[in-house]
Amino acid sequence: MSPVPPSRRGACPAFLAPMETGDGLVLRLFPADGALTFAQLSGIAQAARVLGNGMMEVTARGSLQVRGLRAETVEPLRERIIALGVTPRLGHAIDLSPLSGLDPTEMADARPLARRIRDGISGLEERFGPKVSVVIDGGGAISLDGRKADVRLKARRGQGDAVWTVAVGGGPAVFGSGAEAAEHAVHALTRLAALGRRARSTDLPGCGDTTDAIDTPPAPPLGRIPLADTTFAFGIGLPFGAGEAALFAALAAAAETAGARDLRPAPERTLLATGLHATGVEAFAAAAEQLGCIVAPKDPRAFVAACPGAPACASAHFPARELAPQVASVLAPLLDGTVSVHLSACTKGCAHPAPTTLAFVGMDCGVALVHEGAPSKATGPARPVEQLVEELRALAATPRAAGETGRDLIRRIDAARLWARRDQMQSTIGT
Ligand code: SF4
Repeated sequence: MSPVPPSRRGACPAFLAPMETGDGLVLRLFPADGALTFAQLSGIAQAARVLGNGMMEVTARGSLQVRGLRAETVEPLRERIIALGVTPRLGHAIDLSPLSGLDPTEMADARPLARRIRDGISGLEERFGPKVSVVIDGGGAISLDGRKADVRLKARRGQGDAVWTVAVGGGPAVFGSGAEAAEHAVHALTRLAALGRRARSTDLPGCGDTTDAIDTPPAPPLGRIPLADTTFAFGIGLPFGAGEAALFAALAAAAETAGARDLRPAPERTLLATGLHATGVEAFAAAAEQLGCIVAPKDPRAFVAACPGAPACASAHFPARELAPQVASVLAPLLDGTVSVHLSACTKGCAHPAPTTLAFVGMDCGVALVHEGAPSKATGPARPVEQLVEELRALAATPRAAGETGRDLIRRIDAARLWARRDQMQSTIGT
């Protein structure tokens, strides 16, 4: 049977509107204050086992997802989550660093701006499309540069207080105080709301020049991060963003035992334990590694995103997440921090909304390659999925010039063009 077309682009599995996928409904949760207690995370994991199919995820944007729900189990799950004392973020996506207000390196606390913007667009939410998003980057240890946004606010060091820049779609950035920046963002969002639910910021006059080009991929927040109260956060990565509910429960127990204060779903498929002292950092890192999580920034798995793929998703053309460990392993020589990889089993690109260096995209005729773009840009030609791992092994073995980064090499050999011409690829990268 052919895969079914993905649900319409622009649809996301929100807390109040779970989305249908091949393995049932997916419910997405952002805790309103960014943090979960250990009892809350382990309670959600227990509910995911009983009410879903037991799989949980942390997404590239840092939300928690429960998979495999049925229509009749959605409401019981929501009730369990509320009963655990979790306040889900409702309304529009306004993304901040999960360490806002705790991070001594941030130039400004993004939370007051988030409140102003949320208040400013109150009542308009129904008029935005579900993917319209605002990113407020206070300039701290966790960069939000790689995150797509319709409206992006970023703190810069000023003479006294931080100065904020506001960019709407591909339009020019404007500068101002926090209050001015929030007002500018609300004004842009109000204009966007007037254009209807299908509109994105690039539809606004003067804001249409966006590009998919990426610079260095965002580094996942892995390892130890000092906090303002002299404790530490420690970031661990979920391999390819997913795990059994039991893994999440075990991580909650490990963080509690290590003396952490809470756990925070974080960007690039990570979880942060906060409030750790030095000995607790070591204990939590060791426990997470033992559980198979990513604790080292150079772990090649940290640079590979993969959607569930087949058979979990009915729209999938190949088993993306099943292949991901092999792909990360064979591409390891290229994954030096300059290269990000996305295995997307169809053109929807659920696992990584932003462009990556290499996106391998499932299509009717095989796997297409998009170089420095999003899966939606895939047009083919495609290569058989059975050959994917061996082709990538050969690509990673391409001789490198001294000092050449993985990204430079991919550009030099024009991997996308070679992907389209199999014989040439074999001979070029074999020499
Ligand atoms: S990107 Fe993956 S998970 Fe998303 S709809 Fe396509 S196959 Fe399914």
